[in-house]
Amino acid sequence: MRRCLAEKSAEQLQEIERHKLNAMNAFAETQTCRRLLLLNYFGENQQQPCGNCDIFLDPPKRYDGLIDAQKVLSCIYRTGQRFGIGYIVDILRGENHQRIREFDHDKLPVYGLGKEQNHEHWVSVCRELIHMGLVNQNIAHFSALQLTEAARPILRGEVPLQLAFARILSKKSRNQQNKNYQGHYDKKLFAKLRQLRKVIANEENIPPFVVFNDATLIEMAERCPVGSNELLLINGVGQRKLARFGEAFMTLIRDHLADFE
Ligand SMILES: [Zn+2]
Repeated sequence: MRRCLAEKSAEQLQEIERHKLNAMNAFAETQTCRRLLLLNYFGENQQQPCGNCDIFLDPPKRYDGLIDAQKVLSCIYRTGQRFGIGYIVDILRGENHQRIREFDHDKLPVYGLGKEQNHEHWVSVCRELIHMGLVNQNIAHFSALQLTEAARPILRGEVPLQLAFARILSKKSRNQQNKNYQGHYDKKLFAKLRQLRKVIANEENIPPFVVFNDATLIEMAERCPVGSNELLLINGVGQRKLARFGEAFMTLIRDHLADFE
């Protein structure tokens, strides 16, 4: 499907198709009743789960998600309801990138408020809020997240809200276990990281170890950093290298993790 998308020409058409692909992805990953998700997708904001889909029969583990939901809703509200999931999550995680700085969003009280949880966690929370009908994704406007009326009592803390632990996380920790079994880092990812290092070194006409040394790549293959803050925690990655090579390596790691799913 991604290849089909690439072949289409009109930018707007691609945007809509990309949204549909994301929606299909969300359907596969949903933690809430699948029937609710379908109804919400077609604009029927229902709240009652159906009682007979697979999510109901094999329920995900839940936690008191009111605070998490408030963080996301508040972030959407404070940024003017104009941005998509990725950007909202980046603000919550306190990512330090140019777009956030240009909009002065690093000065918002919600900036970095969700640092203690990883990227996947917040994507999962966003998706769940969409499935529950608290947030709409505006297809006509870059899939921007917008609050619905139902979000008000949550923002005011007037009603309780249960969220599900992201299933992607448990799947990833399973991958982590496999990795531990074979040796404690992801060898396939390590090979890809080395390949990328070689390409960059050739392009920049510098020795590979000047990009990152092997120990740094192994640590990346072990911890799979997908955001700037996580990448900075790896030995051998400083602000300067982050700015120079960070995006290329994080993109590779994100793609690699996406292949697992
Ligand atoms: Zn259901």
